[in-house]
Amino acid sequence: MIKSILATIALLCWASAATAQSGDNEQDSRWSIAIHGGAGTLDRDRITPEQDKDIRAALNQALAAGSQILEDGGSAIDAITATIMILEDNPNFNAGKGAVFTWDRTNELDTSIMDGSDLSAGAAAGINGTKNPILLARAVKDHSPHVMLSGEGANQFSRDQGLQQVPPEYYATPYRLEQIDKLLSKEVSAADIDYKFGTVGAVAMDQNGHMAAGTSTGGMTGKRWGRIGDSPIIGAGTYADDRSCAISATGSGEYFIRLGVAHEICARIRMRWPIALEEAQRTVPKDAEGNYTYIIHASEFMLSDEEIQQIADDVIAELGELGGDGGIIYATPWGQAGYSFNTAGMYRGRATSEGEQSVAIYGDEE
Ligand code: ASP
Repeated sequence: MIKSILATIALLCWASAATAQSGDNEQDSRWSIAIHGGAGTLDRDRITPEQDKDIRAALNQALAAGSQILEDGGSAIDAITATIMILEDNPNFNAGKGAVFTWDRTNELDTSIMDGSDLSAGAAAGINGTKNPILLARAVKDHSPHVMLSGEGANQFSRDQGLQQVPPEYYATPYRLEQIDKLLSKEVSAADIDYKFGTVGAVAMDQNGHMAAGTSTGGMTGKRWGRIGDSPIIGAGTYADDRSCAISATGSGEYFIRLGVAHEICARIRMRWPIALEEAQRTVPKDAEGNYTYIIHASEFMLSDEEIQQIADDVIAELGELGGDGGIIYATPWGQAGYSFNTAGMYRGRATSEGEQSVAIYGDEE
């Protein structure tokens, strides 16, 4: 009994801190969303005009679907789920249909999702059979007592949940088959194969100030021994917390796991906020008695766009120093939505209630 009262008090304190920090306001109709479709050596000479057009159309379609849900007052978690499903269904991306092949010429999909309003999360690793893996992550979050399921057990759970199943050949595309065949015949190395990764992800803030993040991937071409990347790992490839940010990552997963990239960025934002608030308060003029002429309220204080970008860039720089490639998308409780990556390009897009909607591929865009 006492335990549960304490737990309730702790939850209320956490919720009010999250509210203060996120400026949660039922009247506030702002929302934002960012998406990615993978990062890598996305040079202009590696992508045909046709591919360029198809990718941008797919990103715009996914972005529009998520934006509409947020504009209509839907939740961040619903918006990112719908967005990621569209990208999973598109064969241009390494998730759902179009997933890369393992060394054994099979598909083993990884995915995760997180709701920043209560820190609930779900993930599935090394799965197949589910048409839309992000729905399996969502089902693990919503309908199981666990956070992460793997392999056959996860596939079984998916069937038990009544999620749409597909035969193994559903995921295959001629392009991905060619990639694995080239790799297996040693014509190219795994590094060459994955010059553009193709994982998909979305992050969002809804009109109630709630955050969510999700990621879905086939992993790395030619992966062996049940290798699991960062995408299904909460804190590495995906993280969301109403007090700080929502992150989805893409790139060389081993490095993202080692740095705990998604959580690291959110933690730095969460730690920076009260310090920045205090710094801002100190700049307020004082009256004759030495009291501040006004108090900056938590609900009206936000980290600047530059500060958020710097934090994300710092963590990606550390990733690079370690030897990792890739990038992240972010959304914050103050409405910012953006990216940071150390590769030549990243399939990406963002939209906000302020009317912004853009998609981009190459590093020199925007
Ligand atoms: N991060 C994914 C993994 O390592 C791959 C990717 O993002 O393309 O499995």
